Amino acid sequence: MSDLSLAAAQARDAADPFAFARDRFTLPDGVIYLDGNSLGALPLATSAAMADVIAGQWGEGLVTSWNRHDWIGLPQRLGARIAPLIGAAPDEVIVTDTTSTNLFKLIAAALAARPHRQVILSEAGNFPTDLYIAQGAAAMRGAQLKTAAGAEILSSLDDHVAVLLLTHVHYKTGSVHDMAAITAAAHAVGALVIWDLSHSTGAVPVDLNGCNADLAVGCGYKYLNGGPGAPAFLYVARRLQNELHSPLSGWMGHAAPFAFEDGYRPAPGIDRFLSGTPSVLAMAALDAGLDTFDGVDTTALFAKGRALGDYCIALMDARCAGQGFALISPRNGDARGSHVSFAHLNAWPICQALIARGVIGDFRAPDALRLGFAPLYTGFADVWHAVEAIRDIVDSGAWDAPAYHAHSVVT
Ligand SMILES: *Cc1c(COP(=O)(O)O)cnc(C)c1O
Repeated sequence: MSDLSLAAAQARDAADPFAFARDRFTLPDGVIYLDGNSLGALPLATSAAMADVIAGQWGEGLVTSWNRHDWIGLPQRLGARIAPLIGAAPDEVIVTDTTSTNLFKLIAAALAARPHRQVILSEAGNFPTDLYIAQGAAAMRGAQLKTAAGAEILSSLDDHVAVLLLTHVHYKTGSVHDMAAITAAAHAVGALVIWDLSHSTGAVPVDLNGCNADLAVGCGYKYLNGGPGAPAFLYVARRLQNELHSPLSGWMGHAAPFAFEDGYRPAPGIDRFLSGTPSVLAMAALDAGLDTFDGVDTTALFAKGRALGDYCIALMDARCAGQGFALISPRNGDARGSHVSFAHLNAWPICQALIARGVIGDFRAPDALRLGFAPLYTGFADVWHAVEAIRDIVDSGAWDAPAYHAHSVVT
């Protein structure tokens, strides 16, 4: 889009086919929210849906609600709702635990399935929990974690690699790995692949089955709008489900949990990757979050997310040139997820000054200002106003107020 005026952005929003989806969310007045990739916005329907589960189901049905309201089936039901967003079959996805815990389960299962191989290969600079969990799983099994730069992943694959662990859309740069090509290369050396879809699901096209993927995990509280700390999901390709074993052999993954047997027998299929009792209230919120995708043409939605990123880059080029920002995301929208990051020496105080003005993006150490575009509710005028705020904060020196240099626990 070459017309960078506010009027042009507003015209684009007026013609947005996803205006109906934006109305499914509530955001505080005066806030421009560009952090739905970290914590999705609150869907309008979530509060009432949770109140119903609390008062109507828990309060009225008490323990009978496990059957009456099929609480026990929530992990499978929600998994089946996520499946079409990631190119999986309904019985290949289950909602459970956290992304970190699911990573542990799948890494351990993959290592056990390749007993003569000792290497977990991942990307240097991958999301911290992925590397930390891999280190813990490696230590338990006498394996080792090796990391390679993104461009050197393919050349680092060899027949020592048991499992390749990659995040599909990089949390900081937004750059996207070629899932089909990398999966094929890993299979060619006999390795399994785990894809972390935390920054992909609900934001970019993912075709696990089309890529012949093995294993995947992803997050419920980012683009899926499931609420803070929402349950995560995991994917196991059907062809692998009965040969892999969860190291967290809890009763919900047992073939007959309510037979109360002493010995563990894994459930057939993906259910064996459950461990304990599902978090019903949290799952109710995730269910409401997934409703925000109802009736949405995701191909067009993801194209809108990419267009928002392209627009942000074009505006930053035009309006913030010479202010010290360096784009660290791919310029080519095909190679980028739904967020854009800029390195800047003063990224932290700039980000705090933006938040003080109601423009919420985030900071990723050591020097990145990250702006996320959740295409269900972010508009082009939002991006316009955000870039104007950035320009003004740097231009006026407003970022340099002492308050904006103070650090907080969570970034
Ligand atoms: C957000 C995110 C996670 C989150 O893991 P939790 O267990 O929910 O804290 C994991 N991996 C990636 C790549 C993420 O972006």
